[in-house]
Amino acid sequence: MSKVKSQDTKPEIAVRSALHRLGYRFRLGGGGLPGKPDIILSKYRTVIFVHGCFWHQHPGCKKSKIPAQNSLFWSKKLSRNKERDKRVRAELEKLGWKVKFLWQCEIHPSGLPGQLRNIFNRGNHEIR
Ligand SMILES: [Zn+2]
Repeated sequence: MSKVKSQDTKPEIAVRSALHRLGYRFRLGGGGLPGKPDIILSKYRTVIFVHGCFWHQHPGCKKSKIPAQNSLFWSKKLSRNKERDKRVRAELEKLGWKVKFLWQCEIHPSGLPGQLRNIFNRGNHEIR
């Protein structure tokens, strides 16, 4: 968590290449949408966020644990992130987008094709 979140995190790359192999066409880089989704599948009116467990506070995940040092600072900062995520999701849904989240700890290249197929088969449900 000391590392600054980069534009091309590894899990995100894994997700992209899995999508590509499954034959989905997508765009990157936010496309002017609220919250700058990591991956945009216009044809399916679906956006995917690849969320870091710490920064986005993956519920029940051990990687989302708030550090003991400066815990007040972190809990404020991270709850702001969570609020923003909620707001962004609501805005996108208002615009008619399906919003999906993939958590970093749950991304394993071998399991990805199944996870991604679920995104498109299961309608509006989140992948958990
Ligand atoms: Zn996690």
